[in-house]
Formats: sequence, structure tokens, C-alpha cells
Amino acid sequence: MNSRPNGRPFFFAPGPTNIPDRILGAMNKPTMDFLAPEFLAIHGRVHEGIKKVLKTKQHLFIYAANGHGAWEAALANTLTPDDKVLSLESGYFSSNWATMAQELGLVVETLPADWRKGVGQDAMVKRLKADTTGEIKAVLVAHNETATGVSTPLSEVRQALDEAKHKAMLFADTISSLGSFDFQMDKWGVDIVVGGSQKGLMMTTGLSFTGVSDRALEVSKQVKTRRSYWNWADMLTREPQKFPGTTPVHMFFGLDESIAMLEAEGLDAVFRRHRRYANATRAAITHWGGGATSDATVSEAGIKGEIKALELVCTNPKRMSDSVSAVFTPDGHDANALRSLAQNRFNLTLGGGLGPLNGRVFRIGHMGDLNEPMLLGALATLELAFTSAKVPHYAGGVDAAIKSLLDA
Ligand SMILES: *Cc1c(COP(=O)(O)O)cnc(C)c1O
Repeated sequence: MNSRPNGRPFFFAPGPTNIPDRILGAMNKPTMDFLAPEFLAIHGRVHEGIKKVLKTKQHLFIYAANGHGAWEAALANTLTPDDKVLSLESGYFSSNWATMAQELGLVVETLPADWRKGVGQDAMVKRLKADTTGEIKAVLVAHNETATGVSTPLSEVRQALDEAKHKAMLFADTISSLGSFDFQMDKWGVDIVVGGSQKGLMMTTGLSFTGVSDRALEVSKQVKTRRSYWNWADMLTREPQKFPGTTPVHMFFGLDESIAMLEAEGLDAVFRRHRRYANATRAAITHWGGGATSDATVSEAGIKGEIKALELVCTNPKRMSDSVSAVFTPDGHDANALRSLAQNRFNLTLGGGLGPLNGRVFRIGHMGDLNEPMLLGALATLELAFTSAKVPHYAGGVDAAIKSLLDA
């Protein structure tokens, strides 16, 4: 909890994100019977609205669960123990999804990558071509690796599968990309997309969903992984609430409003806004670090090499995330101490470094409900925190961000 009584807290963690007053207001309503026609209309609208955000005409299942629930639903409904899946390594979230697959009895092969860059398309093609017997049943990708701010273009993964003439299903985790940058389930031939309510969709945590292709739904009829709560076959028999138990009606009120807001702004405009803020944030970071880019690499085992200045974790210019920027502090400067200071003295919440990046990285979430004053306020406060915590930096990062916003 924020202990400072004055002013609004500035929340810049990359999920959950700021919940707009409009959405909070939409949830501030008496309870409604989830079978009442008035609610069923909202329920139906939310289903159609999410499908539009996913850009799909295929199937959708919504769960009363956070993203981890949808992760499990995706795997348990479409794969059988001992099936092989290929996980494209990108960082903490890709590894955790892979670990879950292992726990469900699947055989996981990781296609390794420097966490600062992600897996290259050539490596995908090479591995898929080598699988001449079609052992790999699914390819798991974090569209946006929230731990590092590195995105993996799904169109490239699709191309790699096509070029290798490989029939594996394509699974995409879009929890931190949906509603922030482009995602097209049907066009990119994604079989399962995993999404959650609390990031680009600006809602509370607690609803997640999977978009499911015709093919994946067909496959799900044959699989042998044990499942109960997540079982699509069971969900399909449950009209109209579609999942076991009570429907969390207030979350549907909220999501209905969130979808209305995204539709009113227009998804393309939403994406452009995220790109502008991401570019401004990156301009500030580059300025603070004097343009430094070290050769250090990152893997599960840790960071290899020296980092002498503030710099972006992502070093792949084509894959910089429009929803989150992960930033190294220079060697010898504790990123968690900086975050605590920003939080306790200045009311600014930042994300921490995950896994091997703990203590070495802080993350700025620039997704969801933001405007220029919020972004510039956060960047200015960050510069204040650098000075207070004696983190070496070049002053003037905010000017660089302003310039970037003006140029765009
Ligand atoms: C946040 C996040 C998750 C986990 O979602 P929860 O709702 O916390 O379970 C998974 N994958 C990615 C890419 C995320 O950003």
C-alpha cells in the first residue's frame, strides 16, 4: 500500500496496470443475477469484443483465473503427456510456461536465446526443419516477454513453421501485448492465444482467456491430459455462463467498459499511442545512459559481461517492446534499492527484475491507460530517484522524451 497520503500514486509496473476511472465506475454497481437477460447481453458483448481484439472468428474460452490459469488451460486441453513442445526462450515468462508444461507431463525442448535478443527466425526454421518426424506438437511463444521488454514477431514464427512445412500448433502468450500492439490470431495462424485482463485491457486481475482455432478444438477431443475446471468439452456444455460455477459479473462489467474504450479510440490508434510512449521512454533511457550498449548477455544462469551505464535490456532494435521497457542499472547499483526509493519517497511504482535479473533491472510499464503527463511525470520522477540514489546518469532524459513525443 502507498503510505503517502498526498496525490495519486504513480503506478508504472508492467502489470497490473492503471484501471481507468471509467472502468472502476462501471464496476461500481449492485450484484446482478448472472442468468438475467440484462447480464447475458453484457456477457455476449464481452465474448464478441474479445474476439475482435484477438482478430479471430474462431473460438474463445474465458476463465475466472489469472493468466496462469489460461496457460494451463491451453496446455491441458491440447496436449497429451509425453508430447513434445518447443519453447522459444525469451526470459522469465517463457521459462515459467515451459516449466508448467513439464509439470503436466509434457516433454519440453527449449530453443535457447540470449534474453536480450530472443530467438532468431533462422534458428526457428533450422530446428523445425530438423524435426522430420513431426515430434514437435506445439511451439510456445511469449509474444511480449514482460521480463525483458523483448517481443517476438508471431508473423516470423508463422513463416518459420510454413517454410519448414511443419504442422506443429502455434501457441502465443499475449498477456502483455494484447491491447498494446498488433496481434492477429487468424491471419498469423495462431492455434491458441493466451490473454489476461489486467495489462493492456486495463482491468482488474482475475479474468483470463484462450482464443482457440478450429484445429486446436478438434485436437482437444483426443488428448489425455487430466483436466477438470479447464475442460473445454465441459465448458461447451455450459450455456450460457460457459465455465463451471458462478460468473464474476463485476469483472464482466469492467471488461465490457474496457472493450468499449478500446473500440472508441480504435485499436490502431491505441497501438500508435503505445508506440509513441515506448519511443519516448526509450529516448529517455538512451539519453540517461549516454547511448551505452554493452555486449553483456543474459540467460537463465545470469548476466555475463559488464554493464557500465543505464541501458535497455533489449538490444534487438526490431523487437523492442511497445508495452514495457526493462532497464539495467550500472554494475554496483542495486535496482531494487532504486525501486524502493522511488516507491517510498516519491510514490512511483516500478517493476523489478525477474529471475536472474533481480536486483539488476527495473521495468517501466508503458501500457494501458496512460497519457503524456503521466508518462513524463514518471520519467521525471525516475530522474529524481537516480539523483537521490546516486545512480550515474546524464541529466536531461525527460527533454529527450519530450523531443521524441513532439517528433512523433
Ligand atoms: C503477466 C504475465 C503472465 C502471468 O499472468 P498472471 O495473470 O500473473 O498469471 C504470463 N505471461 C506474460 C507474458 C505476462 O506478462
